[in-house]
Amino acid sequence: MIIGKIGKDEKRVKFELEIFCNQCGKKVPGGLQASEKYYGTEKFKKELEEFKQNYLCGVCRDKKRTKS
Ligand SMILES: [Zn+2]
Repeated sequence: MIIGKIGKDEKRVKFELEIFCNQCGKKVPGGLQASEKYYGTEKFKKELEEFKQNYLCGVCRDKKRTKS
């Protein structure tokens, strides 16, 4: 999963994060990536927070999709 945008030739920072599904609370091991420039910036932190708040695991995402 990528936070923010990564240009084709930009260096990437890979990091691990514990993410919880907002629907069922399941812990999902998160291997995330961001561009080196973006990583650690205020914008990055904000986007990461939003990402965590909206995250759904694969199962819940499927459920959501079939419902609508
Ligand atoms: Zn879930």
